[in-house]
Amino acid sequence: MSLDHDVLIVGAGPAGAHLAIRLARAGWEVGLVEARRFPRPKPCGEFLSPACLPFLDVLGLLEETRAAGAIELGGMRLHGHGHVAEGTYRAVGRAEVPFGHGLALRREVLDAIALDAAVAEPRVTLHAPLRVGHILRSTSGAVIGLHARDASGGECELRARFTIGADGRQSIVARELGLRSFGRAPARFALVARYSGVDPGPTGELHLTRGGYFAAAPVDSGLFTLNLVVDRRELSSATEGARGHGSLETFLARRIEETSSLAPRLAHAERSGPLHVAGPLETRVRRSTFDGGALVGDAAGFVDPMTGEGIFLAMHGAAHLAASLDTALRASRTDARSLLSYERSRRRDITPRHRAARLLQSGLGRPRVERFLLSLLERHPALTDLVVGITGDYASPLALFSPRTWRQALGRQG
Ligand SMILES: Cc1cc2nc3c(=O)[nH]c(=O)nc-3n(C[C@H](O)[C@H](O)[C@H](O)COP(=O)(O)OP(=O)(O)OC[C@H]3O[C@@H](n4cnc5c(N)ncnc54)[C@H](O)[C@@H]3O)c2cc1C
Repeated sequence: MSLDHDVLIVGAGPAGAHLAIRLARAGWEVGLVEARRFPRPKPCGEFLSPACLPFLDVLGLLEETRAAGAIELGGMRLHGHGHVAEGTYRAVGRAEVPFGHGLALRREVLDAIALDAAVAEPRVTLHAPLRVGHILRSTSGAVIGLHARDASGGECELRARFTIGADGRQSIVARELGLRSFGRAPARFALVARYSGVDPGPTGELHLTRGGYFAAAPVDSGLFTLNLVVDRRELSSATEGARGHGSLETFLARRIEETSSLAPRLAHAERSGPLHVAGPLETRVRRSTFDGGALVGDAAGFVDPMTGEGIFLAMHGAAHLAASLDTALRASRTDARSLLSYERSRRRDITPRHRAARLLQSGLGRPRVERFLLSLLERHPALTDLVVGITGDYASPLALFSPRTWRQALGRQG
């Protein structure tokens, strides 16, 4: 069987582009298959946690990201039930803050920087726009490549030693292989819009609202990105009877108006660009490796944007998967077990983050829990710094289960 590449990667978002760069630099021939023309919009809070910066730096993309106008953010400000708690990105316990801040940049700019860097690698071939529709499998069931269509309906097959699903929350690779599973929590949806004319402020912002929250951050070009995340039930009861985007616009405008911490921030704002809708947000997979490939980034599971760590998890996953694939390819292996170190890195580093995000979710929409937590954080800035350090991806969520951390954060002797 003739092979087109050593590794085929489906999807050129942060997970796919970072993986392509790393594999090409390790000496492997990569085919990067992307359904859309870049730059493409991606509904997102557009906030990069501090822990993303070392991944950009090591690939030589950090300076370009800054030069593109990325805004530095020094922490997170949490609003709700009349309380305000501000957490700063600073060392908590033994965890240092990489570069001391996060960044915010429009996704079409951020993702194009990574894709351009991938395409500049002589060992990367970009196949785009090309939409993958099916996965090819051997008689033993191992994945051996993919079947795809271009914009004019032309069909093609590509084959490789490994095929990687980096194709986001709706991953066709995960679906084709029957790896998707579903959570019990009610489905959540996000409405995403940008505004001009908003005073930027030095931090990212979270504003609790009925049945959900707003996440907001100033981005480049004088814009401010706002995400409203709510249960499907909230959205459908508010838009019942009404049709189309108009009703969603009204829903968003009303929610802004009734969220007293946010409304004044947007008093002189002007909308810039369309309203995007994303959801259902949570996706799960049973495992992230299989014979002939793996899933990475959102394709390997996504909880909720509240903790703002999806881009970090995509970059982290790409780094660990690249190392695992390199070892497997050198050993001429393509079975799932050859990628065990990647699966383990996910269990060690990513599963606890997904659990912490689900725990946070379960407290949302319960006013008494929200009020208690926010008043606690408001009174104990060190505790807010810890929470912000966890969502900034440099402090471990396991710290939340350590009595010593709590004693220190609440200002008592350890
Ligand atoms: C509302 C919202 C707000 C968010 N806010 C933040 C935030 O502030 N900070 C943060 O860190 N994370 C945030 N996230 C999460 C973040 O957007 C994702 O975790 C991140 O984009 C994952 O990158 P990825 O490369 O895995 O997937 P994606 O960025 O989704 O890229 C997948 C790529 O695959 C391509 N593709 C899909 N199907 C096919 C196919 N069949 N054939 C070929 N190509 C295909 C797509 O076109 C796309 O380019 C947010 C998510 C949502 C929904």
